[in-house]
Order: sequence, then structure tokens, then C-alpha cells
Amino acid sequence: MGRRGVVAVAAVGVAVAACVVAGVVVGKRVKSRRKWKRVMGVLRELEEGCETTVSRLRQVVDAMAVEMHAGLASEGGSKLKMLLTFVDNLPTGSEKGIYYALDLGGTNFRVLRVQLGGQRSSILSSDVERQPIPPELMTGTSEDLFDFIASALQQFVEKEGNGSEPPPIRRRELGFTFSFPVKQTSVSSGILIKWTKGFAIESMVGQEVTESLQRALDKRGLDMRVAALVNDTVGTLALGHYHDEDTVAAVIIGTGTNACYLERTDAIIKCQGLLTTSGGMVVNMEWGNFWSSHLPRTSYDIDLDAESPNPNDQGFEKMISGMYLGDIVRRVILRMSEESDIFGPASSRLSMAFILRTPLMAAMHEDDSPELTEVARILNDVLEIPDVPLKVRKLIVKICDVVTRRAARLAAAGIVGILKKIGRDGSGGISSGRSRSDIRMRRTVVAIEGGLYSSYTLFREYLHEALTDILGDDIAQHVILMVTEDGSGIGAALLAASHSSYSVDTVQPL
Ligand code: ADP
Ligand code: MG
Repeated sequence: MGRRGVVAVAAVGVAVAACVVAGVVVGKRVKSRRKWKRVMGVLRELEEGCETTVSRLRQVVDAMAVEMHAGLASEGGSKLKMLLTFVDNLPTGSEKGIYYALDLGGTNFRVLRVQLGGQRSSILSSDVERQPIPPELMTGTSEDLFDFIASALQQFVEKEGNGSEPPPIRRRELGFTFSFPVKQTSVSSGILIKWTKGFAIESMVGQEVTESLQRALDKRGLDMRVAALVNDTVGTLALGHYHDEDTVAAVIIGTGTNACYLERTDAIIKCQGLLTTSGGMVVNMEWGNFWSSHLPRTSYDIDLDAESPNPNDQGFEKMISGMYLGDIVRRVILRMSEESDIFGPASSRLSMAFILRTPLMAAMHEDDSPELTEVARILNDVLEIPDVPLKVRKLIVKICDVVTRRAARLAAAGIVGILKKIGRDGSGGISSGRSRSDIRMRRTVVAIEGGLYSSYTLFREYLHEALTDILGDDIAQHVILMVTEDGSGIGAALLAASHSSYSVDTVQPL
């Protein structure tokens, strides 16, 4: 073979190699397009599964109102427990003096001292100390949990300056916010029905809550009386009403979610003969356990529920609240990573339940940097998924959006459900020939708090948008959501004041 031949062979060789490379590139592209298509399929399925059209939300509203009726009609008549609170009078402003509160029921535990001035909205001072609950105490013994609480309170009281001591014959009085389902036996006592939000101290279920706390206080020689045992929603309602008399309901959207509202006693059919001076009583709905076939449920919700310590329980809460949203997102990412390798080699972190906390998910959702650097950082640092292309980072933001939007819109539907039950949704009174805009709608305030609502702007915006979607502009403008910071704790102190054993005239009928 001459020289030419060699060159020619070599040239053919290069051409073949080039063809092979091109073939591999084309193959990769086709493969990656196919993978991307599969991932898009997962996203589309998620979006469809999470759909909250206005008509669907209205079905949820109706279901909520129906379940409220059922829960008030008979014990066990609904997944909504509709618990009596024995709070038949709310603070008015005439409360005066120094009162304390403990707020237990989620991620953080708070100790508070509030000085009340004797007029509406006159909180002269309030001191709050927060600390996270050590996780081992959430599943340990009730003695350890209450001893931890009592010790925090003791340190708080010991640190206080002059002027906080009660007059010699007066004991300090305390409102105890205990945000789990409790069967109240009076305004200051009740029995734990079940734990939620990751707490699980079995021996405590069925036990008297106030007694457990009082025992721990007495053991430490703290001379304090528990004057009110309240749910966090009830504390929030109390503070809302203290500031604004038109407050009729309260909603918490934090680690968990729940709501309470003012009900007429004659509508509480399961408790015939219930008499209150005001003719009304605050009802703790325990709406976290609400369920309806109209709720948009996905396979991720079903798996999350099945793997939770309380399956078939708290279904509404598991779609809405801060304890769970991050984990729903994690499950979607895990599924996508199983369907394709767009996240690179499988990260074992992705299989760890609750590793993606909701505040981190919110930070990814709200990342407004052009390169989505926060998304990249969290994927890398928390989920150990490095070097994710921008296109995939955008996909993550989209997943967060779908999950949060659904949660916020369902919470809005829940709120309208309450308004409907008490005739404040503008639907009552529509008579023939009158349009919705003709209805005179009473100003209606709903006190709201919780870390998810107050710290997650997009969640809040979606919730507001949905309220208007469901109610329409004309009605929605009369519904005011009032944020009450630390209301669950301050409100408990207010209720301790209005149920103080030293005063008889600080309450006003509802
Ligand atoms: P708790 O419900 O424990 O009494 P909070 O009302 O303060 O306490 O709510 C805390 C919860 O709110 C956290 O568990 C978290 O799920 C959620 N949260 C707090 N901050 C944010 C945030 N920036 N973005 C999203 N969710 C948040
Ligand atoms: Mg709370």
C-alpha cells in the first residue's frame, strides 16, 4: 500500500470515529430529552393532582361547613372534633396587672409575661422568651416534658426585675397554651385526646393537662396558678378580640394548622342545655383533621401519611402546614430522581424523611437571584445534590410553587368554610333580584398567626388571592386577616386575666 492509501484509510477511520461520536451525542440528546420528558410527566401529574380550581375550592368550603355542623351535632359525628373551650367571654380591655403564659405546641416553646393597662389594646409591656423543644422530650415522659417547661418558667420568673412581684396575698396567674386536642372540663382544665405534630408521649393521653403542669410547678416551689388552659387558636382569638371587637375566628398556620371561632351555644347541639352568660362559646375546631373527598390528594400525600406516626389522621394539616410542606417537595424530587438522572447519582439524603424543612423550601421558592444560587446551595448543602443545571433548579422552584399554592388555597377555603357556617361569607341573604354586591356584609376580622403565614410571603399572597377568588372582590374586602404576633401566648395571658380568681368584672359577653 502506498502512502496515499494509508492516508485514505486514516481519513476513513477519522470519518468513522466522527460518525460514532456524533451518534453518541445524538443518542445522549435523545436519551436526555426522553428523561426530561419523563420528569415533565411527573411534574404535570403533580400539577394535576394539586389542582385547586375555584369550583373545587368552593366544594371544600361547603364540605368544611357541613363537617362543622356534623361535629357540633354529635360527639364523633365528624372528623372535626369541634371541641368546647369553656371560653364564653373574651378579653375586653378592662384587664389589668401582670400575667404569665406558657405556649407549648410546636417547634418552639415560649414563656411570656404581659403587663395589662386596663384599656383595650393597652399592653404596657410583654416579654417573650423562646426556645426550641429538645426533640427527645417530644417522645419521652410527661414528667420530663413538664419539668422542662416548669424549669424554663422558673428561670424566667427569677430573672424578672422589681415590680413584677405580685402583692403579698396574690399568687401569680398563668395562661397555658397547649396546642393539642384537649377535651376541656373547664376553662382551666382538660384531658389530652391525642398528640399531633410529632409529639408522642403515650402515657399522657387521657391525662389531665393542667394537673401535670401544676404538679411540676409545685415541685419546683413556684407559686403560680393555672387560670386558663387554652388552645393556641383560642389565645390568638383572645388577642384579636382584645384589639378588635369584630374578630370572630382565629387561624394558626405554623408547624401545624388549626382554627377556632365564636359559636352560638344553641348551635352546639351535642351539648344540650349548655348555658353561658354570653349565649356563645369559642369552639376549637381541630381543623387539621378535616377531611373531604374534594381535597386534591396526590400519591405523595398518601405515602407521607402512611409513613407518618399518625396515619389516617390530620389529613388537612398534612397538606397545609409547615411540618409537612418541605417533605412533600422532597418526595417529588425523590420520585424525579428515580425516574431519571437529572439530579446526578442518587443522593441517599433524598430518602431521609423531613430533611428538607419548610423554611428551606420557602427559601428556594423565593430565591429571586437570576442563577437561583440559593436553590443550588440548598440542593448541595442539604440534599447533597451538587452541580444542578439552571433548568433543573427552575424545576425545583416550580415544585415548591405547586405544593405551597395548593396549601395556601386550601387554608383559604377552610377560612371561608368557617365564614359560611356563621353566615359571614356573603352568601346568606341573597334574595331574588339582588346581586352579591347589594348584600350588606358585616366587617369580619379573622386573627391569624403562625410561622408559615407570617414568614412565607408567597404562601401568604396565595392565601389572600384565593380568598378573593372564592368570595369575590365585593365580599372579600370586608374580610380582614389580622396578624397577631405571639397572640397564642399573649392571648392566653389575657384569658388568665379575664378568668383571674381576683377579679370578677373584667369580662364582657361575646
Ligand atoms: P409553632 O407552630 O411551632 O408554634 P410558629 O408559629 O413560629 O411555631 O411556626 C413555626 C413553623 O413555621 C416552622 O415549623 C416552619 O414550618 C414554619 N416556618 C417558619 N419560618 C418559615 C419560613 N421562613 N418559611 C416557611 N415556613 C416557615
Ligand atoms: Mg404556635
